Amino acid sequence: MGRAEALIALRQALSAVPDLELLAEPADLQRFSRDAFEYSPVLTPRLEPCRADLVARPRTVEAVERLASACAEHQVPLTLRGSGTGNYGQCVPLQGGVVMLTTSLRQIRSIDAATGVVTVEPGCVMRDLDQELRRYGRQLRLMPSTWRSATIGGFVAGGSGGIGSLRWGFLRDPGHLLGMEVVPLRPDAQRHQIGELDAEALNHAYGTNGIITALRLATAPVVNWQQVSVDCERWEQAIELMHRVAASALDLHLGTLLEQPLLSRMPSWGGPAVSAHRLLLLVAPDGLTSLQRMVQSAGATLRDLGPEDLSGGNGLRELSWNHTTLHVRASEPGWTYLQMLLPQPEAQAIAALRQRWGDDLIWHLELVRQQGCPRLAALPLVRWRGAEQLDRLMDDCRAVGAVLFNPHVITVEDGGLGVIDADQVAAKHRFDPAGLLNPGKLRGWEERL
Ligand SMILES: Cc1cc2nc3c(=O)[nH]c(=O)nc-3n(C[C@H](O)[C@H](O)[C@H](O)COP(=O)(O)OP(=O)(O)OC[C@H]3O[C@@H](n4cnc5c(N)ncnc54)[C@H](O)[C@@H]3O)c2cc1C
Repeated sequence: MGRAEALIALRQALSAVPDLELLAEPADLQRFSRDAFEYSPVLTPRLEPCRADLVARPRTVEAVERLASACAEHQVPLTLRGSGTGNYGQCVPLQGGVVMLTTSLRQIRSIDAATGVVTVEPGCVMRDLDQELRRYGRQLRLMPSTWRSATIGGFVAGGSGGIGSLRWGFLRDPGHLLGMEVVPLRPDAQRHQIGELDAEALNHAYGTNGIITALRLATAPVVNWQQVSVDCERWEQAIELMHRVAASALDLHLGTLLEQPLLSRMPSWGGPAVSAHRLLLLVAPDGLTSLQRMVQSAGATLRDLGPEDLSGGNGLRELSWNHTTLHVRASEPGWTYLQMLLPQPEAQAIAALRQRWGDDLIWHLELVRQQGCPRLAALPLVRWRGAEQLDRLMDDCRAVGAVLFNPHVITVEDGGLGVIDADQVAAKHRFDPAGLLNPGKLRGWEERL
């Protein structure tokens, strides 16, 4: 049977499934076949033409099982999609087929009042989950700057870290993800409960090796974070201060450094554009006076921006991580970006790259914890001058010792350390033996023979 016949038969089978909404209008197929890949001028022409043939929105796990069985039976590819805020086409259906929207699977199944461990369905928006956790005195440990719109399943399957990473490291560090419920793509699809060891292989696998229908996650005690900006006249002084606050006993949730040229490109709520570089911090209220003292002794200027207002959309969180890129591109789409872990000492590596690339790079740093140690990650804005120039820039970054996480590539592996993870491939054998979950996305599967 050809693809067209298979799709007709599949659609017919799915139309009888309860709690499964089907969408096939061209506008829906277009809308749900894309994410925020336009941040990459390399990916845009490659991913723009990719289209789903059908979009399905299950409201129950039973409907997911029926959908998975039908796709396996008719050999039609299936791609999973949360809110579609991924930056590198993680949920773009490379070979068409069905796109499954998780957004109606959003139940918070349980929160353990004693431990704070939450079991939640993948389509729950992180803002809603965080709000519910607050009723138990808890909060999410890690979240992307898109936390108000992104889903928890999309974050675990497609993201890596963000706000909270300076304390809690990254999603793949042991201790965050405690288990999952997974539906395999097989004719006899039935949900499986898996523990934290097996769940690791589905963490950051772009939905290529199993359909996650619930996640069990550790959380943190809630803190009402205070927003603070610190202006530093000298770049080295700002980096030094970042290291000092990271090494202190301050309880912090975010540490972002914006190079001066970024200030005039940011929305007004981060404070006026000045001639200094700006550090943005979320600090526990009991740390404010100590922070003030450290800032003063560093010769910098602190501005207390008050407690966070989590009901609005204009906080320091929305100036950090890839939101910085978003704000620059909103008015100047000729900029793209890179992601890397900087070598130490960072100022020296940045100076070497500045010398070569001048104002084609604007620096944006984030304080993170990498394998237990405070480090600086960079998401510099890069003036787009073509793919060849970008490749040369990436080579230069590697040459100074940076570890790149290339956001201009298609596969799971190429966006990470470039190596095939045998556990991810083994999980695909177990939960997607016919290779139908977004084919082409997991290089280890394509190259297994
Ligand atoms: C402005 C901006 C800022 C960002 N900041 C950050 C950041 O700070 N940190 C960060 O890590 N990312 C960041 N991102 C990327 C992205 O927003 C996050 O990773 C986000 O959590 C993705 O959630 P989503 O619901 O949009 O997922 P989607 O984009 O819909 O999906 C992401 C991936 O998860 C897979 N997936 C979704 N649901 C399931 C499921 N049920 N089972 C299996 N796989 C599934 C999809 O197939 C896809 O591969 C940013 C993006 C933008 C545009």
